[in-house]
Amino acid sequence: MLAELRIDLGAIRRNAAALAALIAPARLVPVVKANAYGHGLVQVARALARDVERIAVYELAEADALREAGVAIPIHVLGPVAPDDLEIARAIGAELTLWDDGGYLADIARIVQRHGGRLRVHAKIDTGVARLGMRPADAPRILARYARTPEIELAGAFSHLAAAEELDSTFTREQLATFEEATAGCGAATERHIAASAAAMLWPETRLDAVRAGIAIYGCWPSPETEAVMRGRGFTLEPALAWRTRIVIVREVPAHTPVGYGCAYHTKRPSRIGVIPVGYAEGLPRSAGDRAQVLVAGKRCRIVGRVCMNMAFVDLTDVPYAGPDAQVTLIGTDGDHTVSAAELAAACGTIDYEIVARLPVGVPRVYVASDPPAHGAAPGR
Ligand SMILES: *Cc1c(COP(=O)(O)O)cnc(C)c1O
Repeated sequence: MLAELRIDLGAIRRNAAALAALIAPARLVPVVKANAYGHGLVQVARALARDVERIAVYELAEADALREAGVAIPIHVLGPVAPDDLEIARAIGAELTLWDDGGYLADIARIVQRHGGRLRVHAKIDTGVARLGMRPADAPRILARYARTPEIELAGAFSHLAAAEELDSTFTREQLATFEEATAGCGAATERHIAASAAAMLWPETRLDAVRAGIAIYGCWPSPETEAVMRGRGFTLEPALAWRTRIVIVREVPAHTPVGYGCAYHTKRPSRIGVIPVGYAEGLPRSAGDRAQVLVAGKRCRIVGRVCMNMAFVDLTDVPYAGPDAQVTLIGTDGDHTVSAAELAAACGTIDYEIVARLPVGVPRVYVASDPPAHGAAPGR
């Protein structure tokens, strides 16, 4: 085994329970897109399926994989579904995201008519991300049209916030007001949702009927500011993932010797350089070179030189007892030290979302199921 991800499904369930308690009576809808933010789509969805009423994915293929794996609860597909795939969406009972009132709506109606029944949809309104969704000005008309369309059931109306993790709430409040106005004509049977993790924690008024939470479920924070505010209020999350590997070989290198591609790094002193079998193809960004730290034998050690495609270099000079096969922690705790996904991300000039979402599917994942939520309560009900 070259590298391994250890994922605590109990921590994920406890995070979900803590969030569900925080946002109640709003309903928690865990987001398991991008292979459950690298944590493993099927395993995470199965672990959460008994605790929640619905989960959300980005694409239809993820919903299909979950149905194959026996996950039977409602699944909302947040992203676009190609017209050619609407048959599959209907067959597996996926809940679609809809903003069109032209040809695509007609495609849905035609397919549903062939089989009978109705397709559950969530209408998407763009209130300020300029990504998916209908314009707020068009929403009252299009939502009314959906309500009159017998082939669909308007299960939800939703939007997405652009800057909820920032402590200035001006734009968030404008988006919320726009959304509330655009959906004022919706009946009580239509669930309204706008908040993701950051808004659900920082801005209680955005919780509405449901919250689509991704990053927080995994024990990561949407931003350092969110973490500071929530810790100040006594709210914590448990990171669910640890990423570990082992030293393959240790090189004794004199001072002023180049290490790695481009001779970009030169040792400053006689050094012990450890090679780890993790490079950018394994999910360690190239930008980690000379910036990020890992834990070896309970001590912080620097990644030096350029990160290669499948390998990287660690300066072991200060841990002389760490030889080949010594354990290396890229994310997680060793002894008194912890490297969080957020720390690794900051060293690489990115955010924890990107680090975990890009952990390759091929890295072995070992699942542990520590204790379920203490109170045993089913969150989100
Ligand atoms: C990814 C996503 C979420 C979850 O966001 P987090 O910040 O990870 O909680 C919610 N809604 C939509 C539309 C998304 O794309």
